Amino acid sequence: MGLISFLKSKFSKKDKIDNKYVSGMSKSRKNFSSKLTNLSKRYKSVNQDYFDELEEILIESDVGVSLSIKIIEEVLDESKKQKITEPEKINEILVDKMFLGYASKGDIVNEIQFKSEGPTVVLVVGVNGVGKTTSIAKLAYHYIQKGKKVMLVAADTFRAGAIEQLSIWGERLHIPVIVGKKEQDPASVSYDGAKEAIKQGVDLLIVDTAGRLQTKVNLMNELAKIKRVLNKEIAGAPHETFLIIDATTGQNGVIQAKQFNEVTDVSGVIITKMDGTSKGGIILSIREELGIPVRFIGLGEKLDDLEEFDLDQYLYGLCVEQDEK
Ligand code: GDP
Repeated sequence: MGLISFLKSKFSKKDKIDNKYVSGMSKSRKNFSSKLTNLSKRYKSVNQDYFDELEEILIESDVGVSLSIKIIEEVLDESKKQKITEPEKINEILVDKMFLGYASKGDIVNEIQFKSEGPTVVLVVGVNGVGKTTSIAKLAYHYIQKGKKVMLVAADTFRAGAIEQLSIWGERLHIPVIVGKKEQDPASVSYDGAKEAIKQGVDLLIVDTAGRLQTKVNLMNELAKIKRVLNKEIAGAPHETFLIIDATTGQNGVIQAKQFNEVTDVSGVIITKMDGTSKGGIILSIREELGIPVRFIGLGEKLDDLEEFDLDQYLYGLCVEQDEK
């Protein structure tokens, strides 16, 4: 059974599926799956033109040029091996290859693995405007729902707005936020946060940092200092470094991810605004080019619109046409 048939049988039973992916990815799906369907209707049997058009569809969906070429080569090989020429079957092979491209890079545990003792620390990096503050609030909410005691640290002391915004989220979520003064050393705020987290018996400490990539060396030093300070207070901290990437920025998002990965070790990506883009392929592109897994996906503006990333649901949301107007 091909992946598409498998996904249909897995997810089409409405009571079983959490429809967040289906609704959040409607723009991407309408773009991607309708193009695939239109293409397959125009050809009786596939030829080089068909594969060229298929490659173009992938590139237009932000899968990235090199990965798109690679996937199409694999589809071509597979179709020759299996002697398949029907467009619809070719499209099924395409989705199989998209799946394998991501999954073959290794198993991933998306959820944060909590330490048995003491606070688990997550450092959050990313440029301004990508949805960093909102994602921190969503992540906090996600773990509050799981019964965890969460605390935030506003270590983006460069922007007064960032401190204020995080404090507002803290009030809404009824969780403590450690704030410094504007332009206070972010490492010293992080130090206060770590101390307080230990004192209050917090399970999860989320540290917001500044995202001014234009000053790469400064940012590198700043993050290194924050990490040193956290690590001194809490063994192994930070346990995760999450990079926030805005899906609507397309291939620029991939470039950003590369730049941040050079500045600091990123253990996972949170991709935001997936609901706002019609080009949902960026997730495959990031995984291919950096090897970094997408751990969570933002599918809307509400607190509960952050989902653990699930490759099956993502491909179902992207590739399988739904009965929708
Ligand atoms: P920051 O400057 O990176 O901290 O960005 P904010 O967290 O303030 O978010 C910027 C805007 O993006 C806000 O209007 C958010 O509501 C919006 N936003 C964040 N995540 C998502 C998402 O997953 N979907 C949608 N539609 N909007 C989002």
